[in-house]
Amino acid sequence: MPGMRRPRLLDYDVLLVDLDGVVWLGSSVISENVEALRRAAESGVRLVFLSNNSTRTRRHYSLILRSLGLPVEESDVVTSGYAAARWVALRRPGSNVYVVGEEGLSIESYLAGLNVVDFEYASTHRIDAVIVGLDRLVTYDKLRAALRALHRGALFVAANEDHVLPREDGFDPGAGSIVSALSRAAGREPDFVAGKPSPFIAELALKDMRGAKALVVGDRLDTDIELARRAGLDGLLVLTGVTREPPERAPPNLVGVVKTLLDAI
Ligand SMILES: [Mg+2]
Repeated sequence: MPGMRRPRLLDYDVLLVDLDGVVWLGSSVISENVEALRRAAESGVRLVFLSNNSTRTRRHYSLILRSLGLPVEESDVVTSGYAAARWVALRRPGSNVYVVGEEGLSIESYLAGLNVVDFEYASTHRIDAVIVGLDRLVTYDKLRAALRALHRGALFVAANEDHVLPREDGFDPGAGSIVSALSRAAGREPDFVAGKPSPFIAELALKDMRGAKALVVGDRLDTDIELARRAGLDGLLVLTGVTREPPERAPPNLVGVVKTLLDAI
């Protein structure tokens, strides 16, 4: 884009890297981006991966990323599910929560020290929070249990509000679709949305790196680059995922648009 300097990954202490559309697209790995990230890591740049996908655990992603040759520990991955569970655990440690979501969200809630209750318990007892993420096995019973819990005063926490998930052959409903169904029934908006673009997920990712110069790397303006803007960080848009053309109006914190991350090495 005119007037935009050429950004370099190596100018930063840490990269906050999106997964879907940056590291992989569906089931195919984006090898140019992985190669660039590997080189940045070899030069001493720290990598932290941020994903709005709450269906898998941080451990799951760290193992996949390691198999791609990237130096990644479980603690270098922050999912919206982990962020949602941490947010609840910070406010109400050890509390009872009901999860509308998949394994990744339930396990992260458990690992955050929360007590994950089943839908019969949630339908009949006062619990502290309902945590909602993408649930491809969502049922009427689950929504009913969540609604009853909200009516009894539970906090309403969303992993993210992504309405759709882009696929190779079209769009699938995202976590935001389930959050909206519950929101409509309960007549209230979530008390907190943990995933991108909420700056909370960036704060979690950078918690032991105060003062580090960080760059958010992602394929979406509305989640990745908006997160960067809200968190006061630089953003780099890579055209390997949802966004295929440089934006007409770039937000001021967008430091570059690249075809692949090799263009930023
Ligand atoms: Mg993405």
